[in-house]
Amino acid sequence: MFRMRRSERTRVMILLEDHNIRPSPRKSQHFLVDEGILDRIVEYGDVGLNDRVLEIGAGVGSLTSRLLKRSEHVYAIEVDSRLSEILKERCAQANVINADALKIDLPEFDKVISNLPYSISSRITLKILKSGFKMGILMYQAEFVRRITAPPGTKEYGRLSVFTQALADVEILESVSRDAFYPRPDVHSVLIRLRPKEDVVENKDLFLEFITGLFSNRRKRLSKVLGSMGYDVKDLDDEILDLRPDELDVSRIIELYRSLI
Ligand code: SAM
Repeated sequence: MFRMRRSERTRVMILLEDHNIRPSPRKSQHFLVDEGILDRIVEYGDVGLNDRVLEIGAGVGSLTSRLLKRSEHVYAIEVDSRLSEILKERCAQANVINADALKIDLPEFDKVISNLPYSISSRITLKILKSGFKMGILMYQAEFVRRITAPPGTKEYGRLSVFTQALADVEILESVSRDAFYPRPDVHSVLIRLRPKEDVVENKDLFLEFITGLFSNRRKRLSKVLGSMGYDVKDLDDEILDLRPDELDVSRIIELYRSLI
């Protein structure tokens, strides 16, 4: 007998209704239900059988179930225990971790592929960049992508732009309409690929501390900023000391860091 195939949107709505769950905007619970985009995310990730894939904020498993068709090692982190239970039922082969991704040590992984909870975009991106990831396929709010890709001299250019661009190549894959999600969010989304750059800095925590110090005084001259951070600047050129942190491009910031550390 002919059986109608359910769309992902219908499947997600039924799963939530059956479990009496109302999506919480505070937890960024906007589920990606566009099947074309879900399939393309897995393609962009070029997921292989032995890839250890990490998904942060796995929701009800729309992406997890697709990742499991390609890899035997999928780690799905989800903070909401009700959604984790659904995940365990729907994606029995996944390693479901019911936890706040910001509060745990991430499992060892090769690729991070996620429709991220936008409420933790900055902190989770720093955590991913500090990890030994090999590739990231990540969905963000469009405004956040403008921040991480911002060039010097713009108001969006800050420590997040520098840390991201210093440690990874960022490729914009597609912009995603609000209609691709249930419930529909207020913001537009953008899907990107991150590939780590090799051996830029040894101690990423120290590098982040350095650029955080620089950008907490972004409009002051470097002579002042570096002095207040406790660096001896007597060997630096006057030309650079006269600039402001947000006028330096990423390669000059790395050069400056290396010369001072
Ligand atoms: N990946 C699913 C999808 O594409 O349909 C859901 C994505 S939804 C944008 C974000 C998910 O992250 C929600 O299920 C939410 O409960 C979860 N979440 C929110 N904050 C989290 C955190 N700190 N750690 C782990 N998961 C979190």
